[in-house]
Amino acid sequence: MSKVYTSKVIRKGEIAEETISISVERPPSFEFEAGQYVQLGVEAPLYPDPKGSSRVFSIASSPLNKNELEIAFRNTGSGFKKTLFELRVGSPVLLEGPFGHFVLPAQKNLKHIFIAGGIGITPFLSIIETVVNNKEGIPINLLYANRSTESTAFLKKLEKLEKDSDCVNVDFIVGRIEAQHLEKHILNLNDTIWWIVGPPTMVTEVSCVLQQIGVLQKTIRTEAFIGY
Ligand SMILES: Cc1cc2nc3c(=O)[nH]c(=O)nc-3n(C[C@H](O)[C@H](O)[C@H](O)COP(=O)(O)OP(=O)(O)OC[C@H]3O[C@@H](n4cnc5c(N)ncnc54)[C@H](O)[C@@H]3O)c2cc1C
Repeated sequence: MSKVYTSKVIRKGEIAEETISISVERPPSFEFEAGQYVQLGVEAPLYPDPKGSSRVFSIASSPLNKNELEIAFRNTGSGFKKTLFELRVGSPVLLEGPFGHFVLPAQKNLKHIFIAGGIGITPFLSIIETVVNNKEGIPINLLYANRSTESTAFLKKLEKLEKDSDCVNVDFIVGRIEAQHLEKHILNLNDTIWWIVGPPTMVTEVSCVLQQIGVLQKTIRTEAFIGY
């Protein structure tokens, strides 16, 4: 069940071009599953924002990390993001959650193709880190597209997770995800789940391409980051 918590910033930094990560203290009673999201807000916004003083963010850190919750976002110039940008270590934040069902199914004998557009990497990072550290052996192929290498958030972390694991493979893509990137993963459609996260237009486009190349809609799960 979701609850409202107060927390404070313990770390903040630029992790890629125009991309900020904020880690906050994880309230001791805050339980979540990898892939879920929170509503993060501030009590005293520094800049006006017509959409208010909070947004929802997928949790990028793993539930195995009991001390902190990490979120990451692209800087867009909205008043709320400008306020977040000026938070300092110790600044208070409000958290509500967890929310969402974008989590791995209990069934362990499935293969997963994760398709991330830009900052859509956040829920996948949490899931991958959890699977790797728990040595769950669940096969995951991540296709991760960005405008450039410089704008690729969590690049080093993902490279390390891939290296530390026999079951996780990462394709870093510069530019758009095209049919050619997806086709090579169509080996056995019966035991594969396709997951897409990113800006709404990217999610719709990739979902259409998948269906054009034979993937069944019922095997596609999506999360659209509205606002991008
Ligand atoms: C389930 C879920 C999970 C999500 N997880 C994440 C996540 O992990 N990371 C993440 O970053 N987002 C995530 N989002 C999206 C997030 O909630 C915000 O909608 C998104 O970050 C855009 O917020 P914003 O404040 O930048 O833009 P909004 O205020 O929503 O404005 C939309 C657009 O308008 C433009 N704009 C607004 N104000 C200005 C201004 N003053 N000057 C110039 N341009 C402006 C920007 O281009 C902006 O992108 C998630 C959404 C959902 C539904």
